[in-house]
Amino acid sequence: MKRAFVTGITGQDGAYLAKLLLEKGYEVHGGIRRISHPIDERLRKLRIERDIIFHEFDLAEVNSINRVIKAQRFDEVYNLAAQSFVGSSWDLPIYAGDVNGLGPARILDALRSFSPDTRFYQASTSEMYGLVQAVPQNETTRFYPRSPYGVAKVYGHYITVNYRESFGMHASSGILFNHESPLRGTEFVTRKITLGLARLARSGGDPVVLGNLDARRDWGFAGDYVEGMWLMLQQPQADDYVLATGVTTSIRDFITFAGAELGMQIEWSGEGVTERGIDRASGRTLIKVSEKFYRPAEVDLLVGDPAKAARTLSWTSTVGVRELAEMMVRSDYDEQI
Ligand code: NDP
Ligand code: GDP
Repeated sequence: MKRAFVTGITGQDGAYLAKLLLEKGYEVHGGIRRISHPIDERLRKLRIERDIIFHEFDLAEVNSINRVIKAQRFDEVYNLAAQSFVGSSWDLPIYAGDVNGLGPARILDALRSFSPDTRFYQASTSEMYGLVQAVPQNETTRFYPRSPYGVAKVYGHYITVNYRESFGMHASSGILFNHESPLRGTEFVTRKITLGLARLARSGGDPVVLGNLDARRDWGFAGDYVEGMWLMLQQPQADDYVLATGVTTSIRDFITFAGAELGMQIEWSGEGVTERGIDRASGRTLIKVSEKFYRPAEVDLLVGDPAKAARTLSWTSTVGVRELAEMMVRSDYDEQI
């Protein structure tokens, strides 16, 4: 039986990856932080919370990393833990650097010392492309991060490449474009939209207030992306791969797709902070814009080229953005019964 350690197991990707690994017959270990509210909500939703062996773990605390790596000798380690919300990273720039940049370095160095044959996955991100230098973005596109989150993740990416090249470790970096699901954190724009529209459809209330509706993202389904992470660690050689759908969509269009699933036909009027999304049938305002949700520096356009992953890993994204929006808003609507 293979043994895997997943950091960030309480997050969206951690939950889906743990489920996948359990289905493949792995013994799954997870790193958790002791916090003041229930930590296993997502794992309970997937009905796997009892199947995981938990270890107290924090990427900012090198002793917790060394202890678990030294004691367990895992076959595979997936580093999914991060200060993961771009918007907060301007308020927590040092913490983002510590956890997202130095965190993977701490794990890699623990593996180098105590378990050099363990295969390692680093959760890198399309946010590293930031102010994009080519369209679409692939593994050779130059990085130009636009947030403390993105800057820290560039360090995490290159330290992974460096430990592979310096010490021959099987360390891979997955450059994943945005991926969503009904388990997505509620502060991310897709889930904020689907929760907000589901609430409006069920019980009315105030409009959903958002920031820049013109930004474009390449959104896929998280369930597909965790399969890609696992495939990377099954290759004879470690490498770096982009996982993406190859399709880019504006925030505005994502709202339109989600609204349509609830029978809302959303029409747009105004510009910038005066823009409104209005339900055609009732005339009710569903979406408003506020500068409060604008970012100090924006990533305007992301669209990935997943050709290398398709060629080498036989990986493809199976859920289109419209289907994804429908899945998420339906789940949020049903959960509000
Ligand atoms: P989530 O925000 O859902 O989960 C983040 C996880 O990291 C949680 O389990 C959280 O634990 C944990 N964590 C945060 N800080 C620490 C810390 N200091 N020490 C240990 N654990 C910590 O993120 P996702 O599942 O969406 O993303 C997974 C990874 O993939 C992240 O690294 C993210 O940056 C990256 N990524 C995500 C993309 C996406 O679109 N989802 C795109 C590209 C990359 P707790 O529950 O205790 O807060
Ligand atoms: P990110 O790509 O990791 O930053 O994922 P997010 O879902 O947080 O943001 C995606 C895009 O949506 C960014 O360009 C944001 O500026 C934009 N956006 C617009 N309004 C909002 C909002 O209210 N919340 C969030 N999180 N993002 C918003």
